[in-house]
Amino acid sequence: MAKRDYYEVLGVQKGASKDDIKKAYRKLAIQYHPDKNPGNKEAEEKFKEATEAYEVLGDDQKKSAYDQFGFAGVEGMGGQHDYSQTFRGFEDLFGGGDFSSIFDTFFGGGGGRRSSGGNGGVRQGANLRYDIEIPFKDAVFGTKVEIQYSRNESCPVCKGTGAANGAGRKVCPTCQGSGQVRHSQGFFSVASTCPSCGGEGYVIEQPCKECGGSGAQKKRQKIMVTIPAGVENGKRVVIPRQGDAGPGGGPAGDLYVFIRVKPHEHFERQDLDLYCAVPISITQASLGADIHVSTLDGKTIKVKVPAGIQNGKMLRIRDEGVPAGGRRGNLYIKLMVQIPAKLSKRGRELLEELSKAEGENDAPKPIPLSEFAER
Ligand SMILES: [Zn+2]
Ligand SMILES: [Zn+2]
Repeated sequence: MAKRDYYEVLGVQKGASKDDIKKAYRKLAIQYHPDKNPGNKEAEEKFKEATEAYEVLGDDQKKSAYDQFGFAGVEGMGGQHDYSQTFRGFEDLFGGGDFSSIFDTFFGGGGGRRSSGGNGGVRQGANLRYDIEIPFKDAVFGTKVEIQYSRNESCPVCKGTGAANGAGRKVCPTCQGSGQVRHSQGFFSVASTCPSCGGEGYVIEQPCKECGGSGAQKKRQKIMVTIPAGVENGKRVVIPRQGDAGPGGGPAGDLYVFIRVKPHEHFERQDLDLYCAVPISITQASLGADIHVSTLDGKTIKVKVPAGIQNGKMLRIRDEGVPAGGRRGNLYIKLMVQIPAKLSKRGRELLEELSKAEGENDAPKPIPLSEFAER
């Protein structure tokens, strides 16, 4: 059976905060908990599914792996559920204690949360996330990327307040200013955010015609993002105040540009160092040679292979690595000595002669594996 996307399972957006993810899971966990649904197979499956999703999305490291690589990124990290594990996670989430008291605090008391900033409803707007993929070389040397996305801008007519000229605010008639509505569900009374005022407790007397009272307008915009040299896979660039405008004319959130770096055909990277391998012949390895190697920025550099170098040894070329913060890493070239698989007649004669001249050790003594270490 195909697995559902973890964000979909929890019913949250990809950019959801840790708190929102936890809240979403808590809601599902209580709804489908086996104690509440004895013998209900479907509820049990839903509970397990939500728990698995929360185990990944609730953990920064697993979440970032999942965001980048999907299910493949978190394979083997979750999934196997013995129930004791599940329950432990559940208790952790609610701070221990027995289950019934958890229900009390969640459903019973007046614990619903008002959104911050009751004073006029001015809040910071949402942060937005944008994902880009850039070539390996651009990540190393830096680049500029133009991106296009939609954000909520402050409505120009009402300046983001949502109120028509001069109109004021009044106490929300639905919730009488509490920001919450309650309704009964089975044995419980459930409090939820008031749908009329979004939890603010106030509504606008006369909504702005331009934006219908929301104070915001969706607008598509293009901006140029500067990717600094040396940026690593999975890192992000923050562009202040380019997220959604704040409700009620509040400051805009930020835009987070998440960077995924495409792998390179020849080069690999570790911190500020670059690595590649080049093949050399047994004669080049024995006699020494000058070889020419292309660097990541397209230069060709001359590299001196010392006589008698062993297979797998690494040569260090200073300052040909990743530039960052005014310095540069190194380039490491691993020499792979190629044994000729096919010899010409003349080649064979010469090697046989070499064998005679140098003699062969037909009883080599074992040496520790570590002697073959790469560096
Ligand atoms: Zn408006
Ligand atoms: Zn209300």
